Amino acid sequence: MPREVVPTKTPMPEQDPKERVRNFREVPYGYTEELAIQEALRCLQCKKPTCIAGCPVNIDIPGFIDLVAKGDFLGAARRIKATNLLPAICGRVCPQEEQCEKACVLSKKFESVAIGRLERFVADFERETGQIQRPAIPRRTGKKVAVVGSGPAGLTVAADLIQQGHEVTVFEALHALGGVLVYGIPEFRLPKSILEAEVNFLASLGVQFEPSYVIGKTETVDELLERFDAVFLGVGAGLPHFMRIPGENLNGVYSANEYLTRANLMRAYMFPEWDTPIKKGKNVAVIGGGNTAMDAVRTALRLGAENAYLIYRRSRAEMPARLEEIHHAEEEGVQFRLLENPTRIIGDDKGWVKEIELISMQLGEPDESGRRRPVPIPGSEHRLEVDTVVVAVGQGANPLLISTTPGLKTNRWGYLEVDPETGETSRERVYAGGDIVRGGATVILAMGDGRRAARAIHERIR
Ligand SMILES: Cc1cc2nc3c(=O)[nH]c(=O)nc-3n(C[C@H](O)[C@H](O)[C@H](O)COP(=O)(O)OP(=O)(O)OC[C@H]3O[C@@H](n4cnc5c(N)ncnc54)[C@H](O)[C@@H]3O)c2cc1C
Repeated sequence: MPREVVPTKTPMPEQDPKERVRNFREVPYGYTEELAIQEALRCLQCKKPTCIAGCPVNIDIPGFIDLVAKGDFLGAARRIKATNLLPAICGRVCPQEEQCEKACVLSKKFESVAIGRLERFVADFERETGQIQRPAIPRRTGKKVAVVGSGPAGLTVAADLIQQGHEVTVFEALHALGGVLVYGIPEFRLPKSILEAEVNFLASLGVQFEPSYVIGKTETVDELLERFDAVFLGVGAGLPHFMRIPGENLNGVYSANEYLTRANLMRAYMFPEWDTPIKKGKNVAVIGGGNTAMDAVRTALRLGAENAYLIYRRSRAEMPARLEEIHHAEEEGVQFRLLENPTRIIGDDKGWVKEIELISMQLGEPDESGRRRPVPIPGSEHRLEVDTVVVAVGQGANPLLISTTPGLKTNRWGYLEVDPETGETSRERVYAGGDIVRGGATVILAMGDGRRAARAIHERIR
């Protein structure tokens, strides 16, 4: 007899919104063993599992979920790790609703299986019970690879190549390792301890890490090529974009990058124990509708804002942020100001932000991004009292590395052009992947690029 389908996902316990807006601890607690098994039993174990095709790294989703349903959590973790090295991270931050869960057969009629939550559960189980499996490292090949940038793309390349017996050194401009995962995504979504565990694991396998080392300044790519057999560039797209409106130079205006770096990485929320100043605004406006904007506005609330506004020029339906995080922000009291766009920021006589002028918008036909184009409504300008403005309208390629590496081909947005099969750039032995190739994308796509490049590098140098 066919099993009766449970229509909704097993809820994941999480911190009460009233409580969590006052702390930086992780919002969801994660599944217990019982809840994980209960959710795993919702999986139909489809003969043609469409979910796998929905995953950029093709995790054997029905396979790992079947192991969870049988209580073999370690087996499940190992099944995932065959294709995804950072499941504790992806289980937390991947936009599952747009990927594997969207392709889940159950989602045609009911809620999809909570694949992301199950992925997170098995990765946490493996780590928390201290049963992380160490791969057998083959004999050293004597070949050396330099990885520039320690984000998900760079970490994946490092992990794959160290397991092939090559020597790997990761150079990172910041003093901390992990890329956006450590400086951008806040503790309440991705605890730093999880990232640290991943980095320490790679170090234990023999990966060398060189933090505070800026390629393009401390050493150039050409110099690296003299002492390494290949170089991978995973430098991300960390150059903040601004809106180019009057008043953006006032005191109290931050790029989302600076705001999040100060708050998360430099722990401004622990001031004065941590010596990082930040303006803890009373009325904070965050501009944008992506994950970065959502992280910044929720951070503003946690830093003590009385009003945290999210100003987005389209409607909720077009917001690029993850649905789960939009929902969390709403629960926490973020005030969504949709279909509004800033026209200028107004300061007081000392040069500090006092107000922001907004114009109301309406939606027109879809543009090249497929989303409906926002069109200003003439004469609808109005003002909002704010003392802090955080601009989260996208990021671009930092020109430093490109301008100091002759012969690196870029596209019209300044991103690196690579061979789609191998990730090789226009410079021989120099490969690239992640946001520096795609523009702001996702963790899992950066990892997929890293994996492809690692395969090509191995083929070339072995
Ligand atoms: C606030 C925020 C929230 C996000 N939330 C999500 C999410 O929920 N889910 C999701 O899938 N994606 C999310 N993203 C996108 C995701 O984080 C990125 O797509 C991903 O991190 C890109 O990985 P990467 O390895 O290409 O680069 P990055 O993670 O950007 O890492 C690049 C690293 O290279 C270093 N570097 C740069 N230049 C140099 C140099 N010259 N020398 C040495 N080192 C250098 C940088 O300091 C950085 O550490 C978010 C992004 C932001 C900004």
